[in-house]
Amino acid sequence: MDFKGKKALVTGAAGGIGSAIARALKAKGAQVAIADRDVSGIDATAHLPGDLCDPTYADALPGAAKDALGGLDIIFNNAGVITRGPVTETTDDDWALSLGVNVEAPFRICRAAIPIMAAAGGGAIVNTASCWGLRPGGNHALYCMTKAAIASLTQCMGMDHAHQGIRINAICPNEVNTPMLRSGFAKRGFDPDTAIAELGKTVPLGRIAEAEDIADVALFLASDAARYMCGALVEINGGKPVL
Ligand code: NAD
Repeated sequence: MDFKGKKALVTGAAGGIGSAIARALKAKGAQVAIADRDVSGIDATAHLPGDLCDPTYADALPGAAKDALGGLDIIFNNAGVITRGPVTETTDDDWALSLGVNVEAPFRICRAAIPIMAAAGGGAIVNTASCWGLRPGGNHALYCMTKAAIASLTQCMGMDHAHQGIRINAICPNEVNTPMLRSGFAKRGFDPDTAIAELGKTVPLGRIAEAEDIADVALFLASDAARYMCGALVEINGGKPVL
């Protein structure tokens, strides 16, 4: 996969999977604009910090990336938040945050990016759904619902914008060793390293994913090697699908 001369935007670039995507893109020659609430101290071509729950910021992000990089070929809509618990324990704030970051922000970013990419002759967008967007997981109702929403939106957009040369696909990881997973264990009183080692025993490949395992598949979908893929939902699960 060669990204020389490609211009890419990565959201959630301060997090586990986002920072791995940004590093891999840079290593393969891309110019990268990174977005997150705080991107200070992270190496990139352009830094575009902000809150994805702010509609004005999300709407403007693709244009800002294009201006900063001198073009925009690829977007990774990777930022996400997880809300745990059944709906009866879900607050209005949980709802606004989960829908805002996991669904509304990628919707706004895609809506703004598609005309930019179309005018330039095409592009690629990789959204981050989850195995839990394909099939439900217990006790994470809102998270699963938002990931199902972005999975469906990806399939629809993949169909609707292929004729413009824009390929829109999504990755669907199972458990990944990132701050999102580790903080969940810590909040529930488990030692993250021990819990992750135990969880790894439930995966046929013998371990849960590292961020780089996910980044490589995300880059594949953004690359010319995936030139005939549009609207695909690609599971990355080490042989452990959510049942
Ligand atoms: P992470 O918590 O390490 O990274 C998420 C990043 O998103 C953080 O840097 C955070 O600051 C950013 N973000 C959250 N809300 C934001 C906001 N309002 N404005 C701007 N940035 C915001 O988590 P991760 O595991 O790297 O997750 C990346 C993506 O992968 C997410 O969409 C997540 O749902 C998805 N995913 C993760 C797992 C897993 O097990 N870790 C599994 C399946 C899918």
